[in-house]
Amino acid sequence: MTESLYGPDQAQGIWVYLEQQGGQLEGVSLELLAMARELADETSAELTGVLLGDDVEALANDAVAHGADRVLLGQDPELAQYRTEPYARVVTALVAEHKPDIFLLGATPDGRDLAGRLAVRLRTGLTADCTNLALEDDSRLLLGEVTGFGGGILATIKCEQHRPQMATVRPGVFTTGAPDESRKADIQRVNVILLAEDDRVEVLERVTEEGADLTRSKVIIAGGRGTRGDFSLLEELAELLGGDVGATRVAVDEGWIGRDRQIGQTGFATRPDLAILCGISGAMHFTVGVEKAETVIAINSDPEAEIFEHADYGVADDLFQVLKPLVDQIKQAQAR
Ligand SMILES: Cc1cc2nc3c(=O)[nH]c(=O)nc-3n(C[C@H](O)[C@H](O)[C@H](O)COP(=O)(O)OP(=O)(O)OC[C@H]3O[C@@H](n4cnc5c(N)ncnc54)[C@H](O)[C@@H]3O)c2cc1C
Repeated sequence: MTESLYGPDQAQGIWVYLEQQGGQLEGVSLELLAMARELADETSAELTGVLLGDDVEALANDAVAHGADRVLLGQDPELAQYRTEPYARVVTALVAEHKPDIFLLGATPDGRDLAGRLAVRLRTGLTADCTNLALEDDSRLLLGEVTGFGGGILATIKCEQHRPQMATVRPGVFTTGAPDESRKADIQRVNVILLAEDDRVEVLERVTEEGADLTRSKVIIAGGRGTRGDFSLLEELAELLGGDVGATRVAVDEGWIGRDRQIGQTGFATRPDLAILCGISGAMHFTVGVEKAETVIAINSDPEAEIFEHADYGVADDLFQVLKPLVDQIKQAQAR
C-alpha cells in the first residue's frame, strides 16, 4: 500500500479549508468550522483554517469569530481566483509542513476539485461528499458517512493509516454557529511559492449563475413525478409560507424545474423547519437530502409509498386534491 507523506504518529490538529468568493467565506466553510469546533473540543485539538486569496485578510477574522484557533493565510495576486494548480501547490506545502490529522473541505465545485488533487499529492484517502461526520469512540478516527453503490447503502468510512484524514462535506449538512467577535486567534501569514507550471490556466471571466439556495430554506415544498410537471400549486403554497420549491431528480430530468431545486444525493442537502413532499416515492437518493428537516409532511396517493417511513405526518391522497383546499384556506386565513 502506498504510504502517505506522514503517519498518525506525527499528525495533529483539525483543519478546515476556508473557501472564499466575492469577499465572503462560503457558507459551507462556516458550517464546517462549527462542526470542526465540536470535534476539536472533543479531542482537545487545535482548529486551523486555511485561507488563500488576494486581499482576504478580513475573512481570516470571520473564521476566528466562527471558531478557528489559528488561520494560515496565504495571499498573492495569483491566488485571487481559484485555480487548481496554484491552490493545490500552496495547500500541499502547508499540509506537508504542519501535518494535520483531519482536513475538511466543502463539497462545492472548487472544494471537490481541490480535495481530489490534494489527496493524490498527499497519498491519502478522501471520503467525498459526506452527509455526516463523527469520531469513532475509542480510536477517535474520523468517520465519514456517505451514500454508496448508487445510493443502495449508507456507508461509514474511516482512514486508519494515512494522514490527513480528508473529507468533503456537502453544503447544508451542518449549521453555522453564531459568530463571537470577541474571540482572539493566531493569524499566520504563510509564504506563497508558485512555479511557472502552476500558471497554465488563465481565468478570463467568471459568471455566477443565479439560483435558489435550498440549503438555507426554512420551508420547502418539494414535488416529484406525481406532480406530472404541474408545480403551480406547490409554488403558490411555497410563496404563502415564505418558502422555496424543491424537487426530485426525476422532476429535474424531465425539465419541469431547474437543477438548483434538486434535493438528494446528487442534489442539495437541506434542513428546513418544514418540508412538504408531494408525489415523491421516497427513494433513498432523495430522502438523504431531507433527513435533517425538522418536520416532514408527505402527500402520496399510494398508501404503501416508502416516503411515509420518512415523514412525521402523511396524507395518502391525490396531491392536487390536498394542496388546492390547503392553499385556499391559507389565503383566506391570511386575508382575515
Ligand atoms: C446515483 C443516483 C443518484 C440519484 N440522485 C438523486 C437525487 O439527488 N435526488 C432524487 O430525487 N433522486 C435521485 N436519484 C433518483 C432516485 O433513485 C429516484 O428515482 C427518484 O428520487 C424518484 O423520484 P420521484 O419520487 O419523483 O418519482 P417516482 O419514484 O416515480 O415516484 C412518484 C410518486 O408519486 C406518487 N404519485 C403519483 N401521482 C400522484 C398524485 N397525483 N398525488 C400524490 N402522489 C402521486 C406515486 O405514488 C409515487 O410514489 C438518483 C438515482 C441514482 C441511481
